[in-house]
Order: sequence, then structure tokens, then C-alpha cells
Amino acid sequence: MEIEILYYAKDLSVRHITYPITQFLSKVSNIEYKFRRLDAIPIDFYNKNRKQYRGDYVNIWLRNLSDSDLVSGILDVDGYVPSLNFIFGVATPAINTFTVYLHRLKYDANEDLFYLRVQKEFMHELGHVLGLEHCVIKKCVMSFSNTIYEVDYKEAKFCPLHFNKLLKLGFTLDLSLEL
Ligand SMILES: [Zn+2]
Ligand SMILES: [Zn+2]
Repeated sequence: MEIEILYYAKDLSVRHITYPITQFLSKVSNIEYKFRRLDAIPIDFYNKNRKQYRGDYVNIWLRNLSDSDLVSGILDVDGYVPSLNFIFGVATPAINTFTVYLHRLKYDANEDLFYLRVQKEFMHELGHVLGLEHCVIKKCVMSFSNTIYEVDYKEAKFCPLHFNKLLKLGFTLDLSLEL
């Protein structure tokens, strides 16, 4: 399985984007990955009043940019979907596409905390695309986060149920990824 990670860095360095992702993906076998830089996100998806990009539309746009099995966007902007004030990320499993929105993950974070948050949100949205649902275990990376505090509370790990679901799908995960 191959995943293409399309990133829009704005004022972040490329390392800020790639480091947390490669840290996680190095612990998973059977996923190959590549990165590609985006120069812009079309203004059509930008809501001027909200100062946010519309996540479900952006996912469809990203899907059409790539031939890979899975597509991921890592975007240094703020995002929303109609039912939510903002999103840390959003998955569209029907088209194997997910995005992580970095703007709110920077809140009050040093570099290490920022990397950890990006990694958690990437794992969470990837989990959705692979068929995982939200988790009632608040420490599981698949638990829903409504605030940055909930992002910080959960760990960059899957609960045993979700970990085993990923194993059954044919992925080999480092044991450090199990809660
Ligand atoms: Zn979710
Ligand atoms: Zn779980």
C-alpha cells in the first residue's frame, strides 16, 4: 500500500511537516510513502468569513492530485466542516483521503509537543481511512478530540482492539504503538 502525503507548509519548515509523519510510518511496515509539496490551496475552498478551508472539499481536490492508494494532506492552515467550528483533521474513507490541519495544533506548543500532536492526528485520520471508528477509551489515538487538551490527553497509540484490527488488515506495527 502506498500513501502520498501532500503538504502545504506556509511558514513552517519542511522538517516540521515530515518529521512527525516519518517517525510514525517508520514503525509500520507494508506502507510505502512519498511526500510532495503543494504551492497553494485553491481559494475556492476558503471561507473568508471563517478564515478556514472547507475540509471535505479539500479532500476531494487532493484525491484528484494523486494516483496513490491513500492520499494525505498536511496543511498549515485552519479547517472546518459544516457541522463543526473547526477540525484538527478530517477523513473521507470513501476516497481513501484524509487531512491534518496544523493551525490549531501549534497552540501553546514547543517543537516536541507540536510533533506529537501532528503524529496523533495523522494516526487518527489514517485509522478512519482504514476503517477504524471512534474509540471510547480516551487514551486511544482513535478517541475523538474536541479540544487541544483532549489531543494532548490521548496517546500516540492504538488500544488493543484497534491495534489488532490493523494487524488483521495486514499491517505490521511496532509494539510501541499499542496502548
Ligand atoms: Zn475522528
Ligand atoms: Zn481504540
